[in-house]
Amino acid sequence: MTMEFKLLIDGDLVDGADSLAVINPATGEPFATCARADAAQLERAIAAAKRAFPTWRDGGQPRRQELLHKLADAMEARFEDFARLLTQEQGKPLAEAQFEVGGAIAAFRHFGAQVLHPETLVDEPNALVVEHYAPLGVVGCIVPWNFPMILLAIKVSIALSTGNTVVAKPAPTTPLTAALLGEVAVGILPPGVFNVIVDANDLGGMLSSHPDVAKISFTGSTATGRKVMASAASTLKRLTLELGGNDVAIVLDDADPAEVAAKIYGAATFNAGQTCMAAKRLYVPNAMLDDIGERLAALASATVLGDGLEPGTKMGPIQNKMQFDKLQDLMAATQSEGTVLTGGARLNRPGYFIQPAIVRDLADDARLVTEEQFGPLVPLLSYDTIEDVIARANASDYGLGGTVWGKDLDKAAAVARGIETGTVWINKHLDLRFDVPFGGVKQSGLGREQGQAGLKEFVDARIVNMAR
Ligand code: NAD
Repeated sequence: MTMEFKLLIDGDLVDGADSLAVINPATGEPFATCARADAAQLERAIAAAKRAFPTWRDGGQPRRQELLHKLADAMEARFEDFARLLTQEQGKPLAEAQFEVGGAIAAFRHFGAQVLHPETLVDEPNALVVEHYAPLGVVGCIVPWNFPMILLAIKVSIALSTGNTVVAKPAPTTPLTAALLGEVAVGILPPGVFNVIVDANDLGGMLSSHPDVAKISFTGSTATGRKVMASAASTLKRLTLELGGNDVAIVLDDADPAEVAAKIYGAATFNAGQTCMAAKRLYVPNAMLDDIGERLAALASATVLGDGLEPGTKMGPIQNKMQFDKLQDLMAATQSEGTVLTGGARLNRPGYFIQPAIVRDLADDARLVTEEQFGPLVPLLSYDTIEDVIARANASDYGLGGTVWGKDLDKAAAVARGIETGTVWINKHLDLRFDVPFGGVKQSGLGREQGQAGLKEFVDARIVNMAR
């Protein structure tokens, strides 16, 4: 029996004007049907969110916190449904899906409890200046297909907690966990406060240009981020853009090769490499190139690929056919540009599986080095000096994350400070915390998510400057 999912508009679960088939990337076959909205339904969702805004805003933070905690409890009660659905629509191994769902529930609890208190900026005998924070109105939350649950949960929980109302739009290839969140929210959140609209990549422009939408919180590619920025210009919308990256992992000469190889392999291939802050370019000292290359190749060829619901699967498929085709095209170009130590072939089975590849001897202008691959194809490069590797790390339009690996922490920290990027981790990766802001520099984005800075992206600062 095919599973069916609906839209959430103004507190009601509704059929779409149309529907779309959702494909399980581990089989390449449709396994569920999701309602698909048309422009009129998006219009209704925005209107409902606009109507719901004043009451939600004025209801106060304690009430919002109570309801967001209730929502987290209701998600917890459907934990396994969310996790299995996430694996089926996205492809990731079930343990990783469970981790993501756990993170999404934790986001509602954490951000539901955050309060932005007014800040006194000046307190003098003759003057009192206080900065107050006011929610913006209707927020459009647009997310991609690599981490459909946690990315949506962070945006929605912060937007709602700070007093805004939401129209959420997942990616068309992974709409189901968002639709299930909509189902779970019915009866908990007041009508119109949270709406879920599923499209076929055709309604994002309308959402981001709509005069009744005050802000777009967008995560996706840099190319689409530019379009969002352009369509938001006519109404001067607030924007948070979390975009693509081409992050480096820099191994220093005092690192232990065995330890570091396993860690940078994980940093490069988690979620089959479909991670915005994945290590997408690996740089090792010349003297360590052969050793680390062999170790990475051994790790890659030992990786168990399969359906995420099968026990033992360590890496799932590429999430969608378009990305799968793009990676095969990139791999074909890479064959003649470098030395493929292992991998890169598609698996001879249904579904969108690509063997993780390690490629060395690439020039700095090879496509696998300059482009965001967003898959398990990993370029291994070598360097002479720290100055050389920092200059090459920074020769990119992107600046999202990055890692430095070495025993001398002062030296590693000095290298980290030289990298033009939003976050650098030292001797670890993917350590994202709700209380630490995350975001890109250069063309990796605008604004921050999480932390105090992330909360303030969802409010206007209003100064009250009083003579006394
Ligand atoms: P994408 O840009 O193609 O799509 C993202 C979302 O935007 C989808 O929901 C899509 O339907 C929607 N969209 C499409 N056209 C639109 C338009 N004109 N206006 C508004 N929305 C529109 O991205 P993708 O391929 O789904 O995701 C992969 C990209 O996301 C990678 O570049 C990755 O690095 C990036 N990403 C960044 C972060 C981060 O935090 N910086 C996190 C995850 C993914």
